[in-house]
Amino acid sequence: MTATSVWRVWAFFIAGMIGGVPVLAAPEPVSLRLELRGYSLAPYIEFLQDRTGALTFAQVSAESMRREYRRLDTTAGGFGFNQSAWWVRFSLHNPNPRSVTYLVRQDYPLIDQIALWEKTPAGQWRERRSGDQLPFWQRDIEHRDFLFVFEVPADSVATYYMRFASKGPINIGLFLYSPESLIQTLSVDQLLNGLFYGAYLVLIAYNLCIFFVVRDRVFLYYLAYLFFTVMNLAIHSGFAFQFLWPDNPDWGNRSVGVFAVLAMVSVLQFARSVLALRRHSAALDRLSRLAMVSFACALPAAWLLPYPQLIALIALLASATAVIVLWLVSLRVLSGDTSAIYFLLAWVALLVGIGCYLMKSFGLLPHNFFTQHSTQIGCLIEMVLLSLALGSRFRVFRIESRTDSLTQLFNRRQFNELLQSEFNRATRFNQPLALLLLDIDHFKQLNDQFGHAEGDKVLKRIGGILSHSVRKPALSFRFGGEEFAVILPRTNATDAAAVAERLRRRIAKEFDQYERITISVGLAALLPTDSGSIEGLLDAADTALYEAKAHGRNCVVCSPALQAV
Ligand code: GH3
Ligand code: MG
Ligand code: MG
Repeated sequence: MTATSVWRVWAFFIAGMIGGVPVLAAPEPVSLRLELRGYSLAPYIEFLQDRTGALTFAQVSAESMRREYRRLDTTAGGFGFNQSAWWVRFSLHNPNPRSVTYLVRQDYPLIDQIALWEKTPAGQWRERRSGDQLPFWQRDIEHRDFLFVFEVPADSVATYYMRFASKGPINIGLFLYSPESLIQTLSVDQLLNGLFYGAYLVLIAYNLCIFFVVRDRVFLYYLAYLFFTVMNLAIHSGFAFQFLWPDNPDWGNRSVGVFAVLAMVSVLQFARSVLALRRHSAALDRLSRLAMVSFACALPAAWLLPYPQLIALIALLASATAVIVLWLVSLRVLSGDTSAIYFLLAWVALLVGIGCYLMKSFGLLPHNFFTQHSTQIGCLIEMVLLSLALGSRFRVFRIESRTDSLTQLFNRRQFNELLQSEFNRATRFNQPLALLLLDIDHFKQLNDQFGHAEGDKVLKRIGGILSHSVRKPALSFRFGGEEFAVILPRTNATDAAAVAERLRRRIAKEFDQYERITISVGLAALLPTDSGSIEGLLDAADTALYEAKAHGRNCVVCSPALQAV
């Protein structure tokens, strides 16, 4: 689900409440002698919470404010969402005899306003502004994360101040890079992101093609969910702002809510459709429709509600979606729906991905590639499994399309196909092939006397007898109405007659509560010759059946025309 975004918000919100533990001693400056490659500044920064957001740089940089700063707890840079502005200070020590260039990367890209103050060589403080409320091109370096370039003078300690303010959650993740190390890191980063979004594009293209072929709406719902999920991931990683709407920061900020809601509505619609809820449970279907409508009503909230309330609403809706979908899918799994198993695994993959991300945010799991990207990985696994769920649905359709729903025997369509392939095989290998047509005697009377429902029960029971008594390679079919067929590969007329007689007796013995239920059987068998044909075989069996009826029913008649050569 989408709610990737929203889970992050929860993570920051809670981390914000438990994080930010004060540590007393002021941190050392970061020594630029280190080989700095994505070096976390967390242990080196101090922060100040400005509850009203009204403090000026002059005020927070005054010596008297020095003692108000706290050290950042190493794991939690999440301050939740509130009205405060957050001031951060840190120092860089350049022990080299020449000035050096370094870069600081803020790795959470959805911050409204970031400002940075540094001292110019002339001793003045210079301010730089960034944030996702400014058009993209105003950044120092046009990258999805915020990148600031520093020139640290030779043999000196330089102190920097930053101010973070956002209507959304604040997550401060500052990392220091040398230019060389940033190039190396970004080249790997871009490749991995390219693979990741490339995989999504392939999934989208593949499922779009399948949709054009099969024209089943469930693919549209899947595609909608897939698309909105990718959009959510792209928004939260900063790619959407960089590449899709770089000049429209206002929409960029609203898009968070819009795509989150769209993804939730589409996953519910997809779940309804793929689990065939309407067919299986009217109550569950109504519940999920109700959830969808209330989520859709939340869409205007993206424009109407203030951002923090919007995010809180989305977090609530996302939690509800997670629970509702898990519940719907589990119920379908318990009632034996195989495509629901894929769906359940997919959902679990997503929740595990989100869970790892949350645990990383709380410091319960280490910060590494997998925990940092666990939501994206979980989403990708989810989407692949959902694609498999759709595939398995088609397997079920295929089985259904060749099965007779009343008797669970193969149907007439499958009969035609299999008779053709058995006929071809018999011709190729010069083997005999036999065909039985079985017709219930006076079935109309039984229907008239006991009702159609009783008639159906008899058909079902005869279907059960046939599927039990006829073993591979022989195959039994419901041929239509109250007629059945049995194909007997590699069987000559004599053996086929024995099978037919056994079936006739078995059925005559089976039914004792009705006056008498018997079948008549027409048998045809052939060694395929140049003149033999499927039509000939069928006609011969039909004629034999007709004769069996004429002979008083409840008997087996072999077609003389095609008896074994
Ligand atoms: P005969 O011995 O000559 O075969 O007589 P019959 O009554 O069995 O044959 P007929 O072809 O006259 O009637 C077949 C009946 O089978 C008519 C129809 O009502 C009944 N039938 C066909 N399909 C179904 C079904 O799916 N369920 C039920 N209950 N009856 C069916
Ligand atoms: Mg009939
Ligand atoms: Mg009949």
